[in-house]
Amino acid sequence: MPEINPEEFAIPFFTEQNFTRRKCPNCANYFWSQNPNQTTCGEAPCAPYTFIGSPPTTRRYTVPEMRIQFMDYFADNGHTRIPPYPIVARWRNDVYLVGASIYDFQPYVTEGTMPPPANPLVISQPCIRYTDVELVGPTGGRHMTIFEMGGAHAFNYPTKEVYWKDECVRYHHQLLTEVLGVPSESVSYKEHFWSGGGNAGPDLETITGGLEIGTLVFMQYRVQGDQLIQLPIRTVDTGYGIERWSWLSQGSPSGFHAVHGPVLQHVMELGKISVDESIIGAFTKASSIHGWTSINKNRESYIQTVSEQTGVSPDALRPMFSSLEAAYAITDHTKAATFLLADGVVPSNVGEGYLARLIIRRAGRFARQLGIFADFPSIVEAQIKLWGGDFRTLREMRSEIIEGLENEMKKYNETISRGLEVVARLSKDLASKGVRNVSTDQLVQLYDSQGLPPEIVKEAAERSGVVVEIPDNFLTLVAESHSRPAKSDEEGPSDADIEAKLANFPATRAIYYDDPYKTRFKSKVVGRIAENALVLDQTAFYPQGGGQLADHGELKFADQKVTVVDVQKYGDRIVHYLAQPIDPSVYDVEGEIDWQRRQNLMRHHTGTHVLIGAARRVLGEHVWQAGAQKEVESSRLDITHYQQITPKEREKIERLANQTILRDLPVRINWMAREKAEAKYGYRLYQGGAVPGSKIRVVRIMGWDTEACGGTHVKRTGELGVFRIEKIDRLQDGIERIIFSAGIPALKRISEENEELTTTAQLLKTTPDQVPKSTGALIAERDALLKELEKHSAKTLEAHIRQLQKNAKILGPIKLVVSKGPKRKGIDPVDIANRLKESDKNMVAVIVELSPDRVQIVAAAGEVAVSAGINASEIVSGAAKAVGGGGGGRQFFASGGGPLKEKAEDALRIIEETIQRQLSALTAKEVA
Ligand SMILES: [Zn+2]
Ligand SMILES: [Zn+2]
Repeated sequence: MPEINPEEFAIPFFTEQNFTRRKCPNCANYFWSQNPNQTTCGEAPCAPYTFIGSPPTTRRYTVPEMRIQFMDYFADNGHTRIPPYPIVARWRNDVYLVGASIYDFQPYVTEGTMPPPANPLVISQPCIRYTDVELVGPTGGRHMTIFEMGGAHAFNYPTKEVYWKDECVRYHHQLLTEVLGVPSESVSYKEHFWSGGGNAGPDLETITGGLEIGTLVFMQYRVQGDQLIQLPIRTVDTGYGIERWSWLSQGSPSGFHAVHGPVLQHVMELGKISVDESIIGAFTKASSIHGWTSINKNRESYIQTVSEQTGVSPDALRPMFSSLEAAYAITDHTKAATFLLADGVVPSNVGEGYLARLIIRRAGRFARQLGIFADFPSIVEAQIKLWGGDFRTLREMRSEIIEGLENEMKKYNETISRGLEVVARLSKDLASKGVRNVSTDQLVQLYDSQGLPPEIVKEAAERSGVVVEIPDNFLTLVAESHSRPAKSDEEGPSDADIEAKLANFPATRAIYYDDPYKTRFKSKVVGRIAENALVLDQTAFYPQGGGQLADHGELKFADQKVTVVDVQKYGDRIVHYLAQPIDPSVYDVEGEIDWQRRQNLMRHHTGTHVLIGAARRVLGEHVWQAGAQKEVESSRLDITHYQQITPKEREKIERLANQTILRDLPVRINWMAREKAEAKYGYRLYQGGAVPGSKIRVVRIMGWDTEACGGTHVKRTGELGVFRIEKIDRLQDGIERIIFSAGIPALKRISEENEELTTTAQLLKTTPDQVPKSTGALIAERDALLKELEKHSAKTLEAHIRQLQKNAKILGPIKLVVSKGPKRKGIDPVDIANRLKESDKNMVAVIVELSPDRVQIVAAAGEVAVSAGINASEIVSGAAKAVGGGGGGRQFFASGGGPLKEKAEDALRIIEETIQRQLSALTAKEVA
């Protein structure tokens, strides 16, 4: 954080109003205040909460009332109202979720690529942040993962100044003091430096009653590595914490009481939690005194403080605190989950799905603690009821939210039971190696690979005496590493090299956009980056991109022709890679693309758009494209969905796609200003991820699907002819992969299958329509035969055993069977030995079985035989040693063997000798 210049915030407003700049002795930050007696910055933990039980405002506001008050105030002061954006940042490729209202305008507005929707503007934007997720609960409402950020934004251009620091602070102060009635001298402004979403600037944190309620950021830099680069546009970026303003005005014992009232009450009733409001308020206040730097230690200080204040023993307070913490977290997290699922997020292990899963599972852990896990759907219903009036999608998506949640609960339960086994195995393994604790890395790995919350690991591992220490900020760490997409390696250094080489060549005109049906064209070579890599002034060759493969074809010149094997686009230039080098003097060329290949690719590309529309209509609004690859023979589309697509759904999707083809819908393509396209079609445009630029190419299958897309498409859906789903795989939890084909490849596949069916029919000596029936009959017949065979082999085995019994030698108190023979299918020596043993208490059965590379020896002895001194284990181990191996077991039963077949006779001899010795040893003992 750069040093803040003392003059940075020396604004006229502060001078006029007698604010002075001072340094907080506690946190060393500079702040501005009108109150000469104020010593600290005024923010907890430098100063405790003073508003609990005595709000400083003239009236109370619920969250919706506060949102309206905030919006109205700024609208009255020349700001245009803007409706909130979705909570999933579909228009950005660098983050998954919206974490602040300014995210809505980054990077295109803040960098000047696109105008703001209004200037100045006001918005109340729902945001989700997982920084400090572990603090949601223990700090009594200061921390929440989901909150509304009131944003009043002004974008100042070099040519047009809207307003800057002074006016911004005046607005804030007037709203807080004149409209809400908070005494002016109780407000402080703390200097700070803010950075987020790739931008930065100095800011003022606004504080009253010990609570930070807003941030006034003066964004003017782009962060590049550790450098700050001045932006041409300076943005007033204010964040008014609507929930905190509402809490401040209500002075409720916790922020959750103020924000989530009815839902919290529902959770408390379900969990049978009843804690006196004065104790709840005391807990919240205690958190403002002790802070939250190390929550596991701080928790105990809160309890001690409350105990001193109330006289209730710490032992009685501890369970109260822990149930409150759980109830708070459940209330907050179920709201976050409701908003995420309403925005079409499918819990999974990737992208925003990972973040949804994380919050649901954290809530799940607390719900298990309170014994209310099964009540999740009812809590989410309560959330929809509370917020659905202001956020209509919650109501519209109600059944999908509940379905998605129930699916995730099922998976969570499965994870827990499967995971407990994994942990048991791991801890045993660690214990055997003398390791007494599970490392943080192992915890992260168990969380990421098995979905196991560390608390569950702790519970299970400690049963085996292995210690688990969970870092205070475990989930914050995990969430941070999953909050933005990994940088793709697509843009490697080689691309930069090529782009440098291309810098002086003119841009290539894309004929494939003007007319995707044009196969031949005349062109000029305007540059070369290698002997076989040409840049043309214009081309009909589509360069690889947007999941569509490059065109192939030929370039002709003079009386020669060369094959084009690849086409790539770098910036505005398109490079054609040839199968062999061509003479550097060649200037005029004629190109021809491989039309069959291109036509397949075009049909498959339009097919992808037809398919996503069909999948969404059959499976639900949560279906989004997770990946796509358009190839020549077939294509694939990965979609988000929380369970396996059933055969019935598959059939429905395929039928719907074919109906869309039959309706022969027109496909229209336009370039549109980004803001207009977004306003008209919404963020569903970005199925293939956000696209760059101020203008975007919008592909519409009229009345069916609209996407921002750079691919080539057919003119009407009818050109696809026929559509087939070839295969559906579960790519990973939450993502289904659909392999499909359209047009010629689909027809080819149909006729191939026909042929296969005909051949099968011929083999079955029947007609194709009778194949299912004949196959069914054949299977039934086979099953009957197998049963017959089983009966038969059982009989054979019995006969074999009877034969062995008949040949048993009587040897004093025992009956001895020693059998040697080759291995026979369906006859298990263990089975034979055991059955012989069971048939007679005096029996000693030793079976020696010879297979091509091994001698197997099994011995079993009945009760009487054992008491006569027989020990099966000794018999086997001696004999197995003779054939070069080993073995053993117990007195009644043992098995073993070795590889030396030629020593089998020696083994037999040893068996006989051992038995004789065992019998005589006992006799000797008896005599003695
Ligand atoms: Zn301070
Ligand atoms: Zn597309």
